[in-house]
Amino acid sequence: MTLASRFGAVVLLGALAAGAYPEQDPLLAKRRAMVAEQIARRDVVGRRVLEAMHAVPRERFVPAEWRHAAYDDSPLPIGDGQTISQPYVVAKMTELLALRPDDVVFELGTGSGYQAAVAARLAAQVYSMEIHPSLAEGARRTLASLEYANVTIRVGDGYFGWAEKGPFDAIVVTAAATEIPPALVAQLKNGGRMVVPVGPAFATQRLMLVEKTPDGQLSTRSLFPVRFVPVLRE
Ligand code: SAH
Repeated sequence: MTLASRFGAVVLLGALAAGAYPEQDPLLAKRRAMVAEQIARRDVVGRRVLEAMHAVPRERFVPAEWRHAAYDDSPLPIGDGQTISQPYVVAKMTELLALRPDDVVFELGTGSGYQAAVAARLAAQVYSMEIHPSLAEGARRTLASLEYANVTIRVGDGYFGWAEKGPFDAIVVTAAATEIPPALVAQLKNGGRMVVPVGPAFATQRLMLVEKTPDGQLSTRSLFPVRFVPVLRE
């Protein structure tokens, strides 16, 4: 081995030990810490969900002026008075959806597109509805730049779901509803799961898990308190 190639091998080994070259990206280290400290250390343990949270560059989904805080343990403003959820909440809601690779997902509230991106790594297709055209457009651009081909975004009132694309294996509502939206229950497949924050606007809501059994019975569980921006109506 020449001195040059020996030096090369040492550099390569060092890079692998540190998790390969992308580790040079300081945000990747922050993202790894986010997954370890904010998510896995709490109670999200599913390997696929943790991998998805590790794979999606959250900094790309927040406005430039908030990029420095992209890996903070908190929600952040994304414009139009809306917020991207705290990373842990995204991970927890995703875990509750128990997504399988063939699943078709509906999301009410595209916002930045971050939750859609995480779900898109775990399911076959995500249909996401956003009431603010500017947010829908921004999310489309971000997801296209990251080459997420399995997220489709539409501008509209997601309270009524997206009947032509349903029924869905999983539904994630990322804004607070005053009741479980009946149209979304109707568009949930037998055997499907929906997570939805239910409660008053601008107060604490409860995260609800709604499951439809294989024979179409509904079971609803109230899980824990959350704070989401309200579902707006057209
Ligand atoms: N899931 C988003 C965060 C959503 S914040 C993310 O990962 O970034 C809630 C979003 O729901 C906001 O963007 C808001 O504009 C949108 N929203 C509120 N009411 C809605 C409705 N009726 N239909 C569709 N989107 C709605």
